[in-house]
Amino acid sequence: MSVPGCPRCTTPVARDGAGVWSCPEHGPVAPLWRAPEASYDAFAEHLVRAGEFPTYLPWPLSPGWSVTDVAAAGEEGAVRATMTGCSGTSDADGPVDVLVVTEEAGVGLGARVAGTRHADPGPGLGDGPPLATVRVEGQGVRLWTVSTSTEPGEWDRSVLAGEAGGRWLWVVLRPASAILLLRGEWILRDVSGLGAPLVDLPYGGPHPLW
Ligand SMILES: [Zn+2]
Repeated sequence: MSVPGCPRCTTPVARDGAGVWSCPEHGPVAPLWRAPEASYDAFAEHLVRAGEFPTYLPWPLSPGWSVTDVAAAGEEGAVRATMTGCSGTSDADGPVDVLVVTEEAGVGLGARVAGTRHADPGPGLGDGPPLATVRVEGQGVRLWTVSTSTEPGEWDRSVLAGEAGGRWLWVVLRPASAILLLRGEWILRDVSGLGAPLVDLPYGGPHPLW
């Protein structure tokens, strides 16, 4: 995690003369720190960086699932986005990845993870009925589909987004059919305050693709 990247593209970022992290393509950005491999240590380091900024995990993790990815955008104490990836299998879909991003407007990490074009979910969000409702810290958070049909790349996924706690909340499921997992009661837990008890989670496995 020593060299941060751009939250919106794959380019490493560097500080300019004024100490601002900057991407050659996207200008000043919140530097993205992605653990090279999900592990207890990497997750603990992530939580220190994120501080009080929420980090959401599907809760409880189903048997056989593990945490496979974790990242934050922003400096310690000034994080503006977090993401987690969990991977496992479902009877209907086989291998499934679930990626959850929460971010302040304009960061662009959710769009990158989702493979959508705009930095934020887009003006159509909230038109029509929500596709799913997840429980986040005791609140029902409505999620709408973000279309990926006109985006480059054919990777098969479902993208949902909504708003929780004044921030964008993105949920990306791969394959797309895994969206049916959201039919039941889904809970996202903010683990930022959990600290050491987090040890109990299973970690590891290849990063989800993004
Ligand atoms: Zn960039």
